[in-house]
Parts: sequence; structure tokens; C-alpha cells
Amino acid sequence: MHPIQCRCGAVKGQLESNNTHNRLICHCTDCRAFARFLGNPSAVLDKQGGTEIVQIAQQHLRFLQGEELLSAVRLSDKGMLRWYTSCCSTPIGNTMADSKVSFIGLVHACLDRERMDRDFGAEIAVLNTDTALGDPQPKQRGLVGVIARFIWIVVTNRIGGGYRKSPLFDASGLPRVVPKVLKPEELASLKVDA
Ligand SMILES: [Zn+2]
Ligand SMILES: [Zn+2]
Repeated sequence: MHPIQCRCGAVKGQLESNNTHNRLICHCTDCRAFARFLGNPSAVLDKQGGTEIVQIAQQHLRFLQGEELLSAVRLSDKGMLRWYTSCCSTPIGNTMADSKVSFIGLVHACLDRERMDRDFGAEIAVLNTDTALGDPQPKQRGLVGVIARFIWIVVTNRIGGGYRKSPLFDASGLPRVVPKVLKPEELASLKVDA
């Protein structure tokens, strides 16, 4: 059981299993824009503009309190749902808008730093390095394993119906909150690397 908690403590939950997961750092510009959207990017991004993420099936996620404080944003009208807490703007994680593609990329800010190695392993894949900040850029690693486990998570949860146990979508497959959709100019301003 890995604890999940927002910065202020109003939202609490847990991961009830660490079965089949990916631990990775994503340097894509969308993850960076999301961190900036929340207003405290240095709490989320590393020195090279990367976001540490744990990808896992949504059905392992359970909220214990503060579920009503969940919000979501989409960087564009076709973008992922990026979930965060409205109390203190802590990122929770990224999902597809389609409830049947049932993984979540949990952002490390809601996880327990001290238990990361124990619960998710010390091996961290490094992805989307072509948009990493700084010189030299980090070297990509672990992509093939990440893709294989990602497909495994999505396919087994689709076939086995595990996607229906997600706390983020209702029985008709709609997200439990109405996501805010950024305007193109809002997104453009969040993509500017200082
Ligand atoms: Zn909070
Ligand atoms: Zn990303």
C-alpha cells in the first residue's frame, strides 16, 4: 500500500497494489506545461524539466478522503486528463479521456518520496529526452520495457474489465469531474521555457 496525499493533506488515498507499473521521468513539454499550470513547477520538475511518474492501472488507486477536491485540466480539447487537487494544486496524475484505457501516470508530488525505491524499484526509465532542458540532455533509457508494461496494463484491464473499478470515471465511462480545457494561447504561454 503506497500512500497518496496532496501537499495540504486534504486529499488522501493509497495505491492498493504495485502490480505491473512503470517508473519513469518524462521530459515532454506537455508534462512541463501541466506543472507550470499548477503554479509551483519547481515542486514537480527536476533540473532538466522532467516529471517523475509512476504508471499503473487505475483500479489500484483508492481515495480515502477529499475525493470531491479532485479537478482535471486538458491542455487542449484532445489532450489527456491531467488530474490535480483544487485545495493546493498538487498534481495527482494523467489519464486518457477514454476510461477503457485504464492507466494513470501518477506524478511523484502526490507519492511518498521515501518509499519510492521500495515500492516501485530503483530503476527509472528516462523518456522524451529530446525535449529535456539543459545541456547535455539526458540519455533515453528503458523505453521498450515501459511500452511493454504499458500495453500489458491497458490490455489486461480492458479485457478483464478492471477499468470499471477506476475511482476517476463513473459507470458510464465519464470522468467524475468536468475538465477545464486550456485555450491555445494559455497552453502556448505554459510552453515557454524560461
Ligand atoms: Zn491539498
Ligand atoms: Zn510527459
